[in-house]
Amino acid sequence: MRHIAIIGSGPAGYYTAEACQKQFGNDVAIDMIDRLPVPYGLIRFGVAPDHQSIKAVSRRYEQVALSDNVRFVGNITVGDQVTIEELLSLYDAVVLATGAPVDRALGIPGDDLPGVIGSAAFVGWYNGHPDFTDLNPPLDGAAAAVIGNGNVALDVTRILAKAPAEFVGSDIVTHAFAALGNSAIRRVTVVGRRGPHQIAMTPKELGELGHLQRAVPHVDPADLPPEADDAALDPGQRKAVGHLRSFATLTQDKDVAVDFDFYARPVAIEGDGKAERLIVERTRPVGDGQVEGTGETYAIPCGLVVACIGYRTPPIPGVPYDDRAGRFANSEGRVPVDGGNLYAVGWARRGPTGTIGTNRPDGYMIAESIAADHPQAANKAGGPGLDSLLAARGADKVSFADWQRIEAAEAARARDGAPREKFVVVADMLAARDA
Ligand code: NAP
Repeated sequence: MRHIAIIGSGPAGYYTAEACQKQFGNDVAIDMIDRLPVPYGLIRFGVAPDHQSIKAVSRRYEQVALSDNVRFVGNITVGDQVTIEELLSLYDAVVLATGAPVDRALGIPGDDLPGVIGSAAFVGWYNGHPDFTDLNPPLDGAAAAVIGNGNVALDVTRILAKAPAEFVGSDIVTHAFAALGNSAIRRVTVVGRRGPHQIAMTPKELGELGHLQRAVPHVDPADLPPEADDAALDPGQRKAVGHLRSFATLTQDKDVAVDFDFYARPVAIEGDGKAERLIVERTRPVGDGQVEGTGETYAIPCGLVVACIGYRTPPIPGVPYDDRAGRFANSEGRVPVDGGNLYAVGWARRGPTGTIGTNRPDGYMIAESIAADHPQAANKAGGPGLDSLLAARGADKVSFADWQRIEAAEAARARDGAPREKFVVVADMLAARDA
């Protein structure tokens, strides 16, 4: 029997498990280890709560999780309760599918002021991640700035701009739903250091901003390149830029203004003990999609700054790490360690890019690499070995059946119309399991 440990139970982890099942048939036992008592990683904690159709992919992962040869081993932190060296000796292969849940730093003066928040923290807060339950983002000012021109910036902007009624059917956690319902924010400035042709937003997600009940997007027509230049864009980008062009024609006002501020590079955040304004430098295009600073700066008043500028994978002791890239050192998913049985997949392998589905071929590639590198099972201790090690350490591991009890309890206490009310504290998750 071949024993495989996958660390992380998000999309990359489940696609890898599925691929290993297909690759090795009945000759494999897979343990999916997660530091939280609940599975699905990015699907639960990253995908926006008002995008339930995207979250529905977890049903596919559930099918994998319920297979006889796949176990969920939740509430176990690798690098703490078990080391990577121990896992490498227990399993034929260990796959790091830990995602990229840590914010990249803005690295500008004032980025440590209260009121400056990274998107991992802000998204984690409204999605009920236990690490960010107590974030309490300041929503009492009239304005917020969202830095970045990717889909995460769009998620954050939409969540800040939506009316409470627009969260019906979502699983936004009640602490965030209540706080956003009392929010004083009436202007959200979306700050991009380059121009409309360089956005990393996808058309469907950008188009949504044009259909919000109480918010209207504004684009300065002067920022738009000549329309003929759109011909050089790929179809998706062209469609997204088309949305910006249509936003530029909107003249109506609503309660909340969403202002796109292109060619604006953040240079500092200022305020008296907290964020009060974002200072940006005007940039100008210099060809090839690049920009240069003009030296002209101005202030965007805001009591909340959410930096949506990308993520890093946290290091794990004993795992080679590429600090510049912010992910595990690897060559096509192979992480260089003695024994050659450590792999990285998904965002932990290639950085935080691509859609959820991009992780599927990643997982299949890793399963093929494991088969090529280790054609024979090595007769290792696998899951039973892990269990005795964790038992000796008094670890309280959570199984998939335990998770299903937690899931049922979350469904039972949901607000009207919501699919679930997540537990946002680990102790409460464990209490629901034990109830
Ligand atoms: P992203 O797509 O890489 O966008 C990051 C943005 O931050 C870019 O506009 C980038 O500008 C900007 N940026 C980076 N450093 C900056 C700095 N120092 N100052 C100002 N701006 C800076 O990343 P993301 O939005 O975090 O999304 C991550 C991945 O998840 C993407 O693949 C995304 O499509 C996906 N996602 C998908 C959905 C969905 O499909 N519904 C939702 C959320 C996320 P430059 O281009 O100038 O570097």
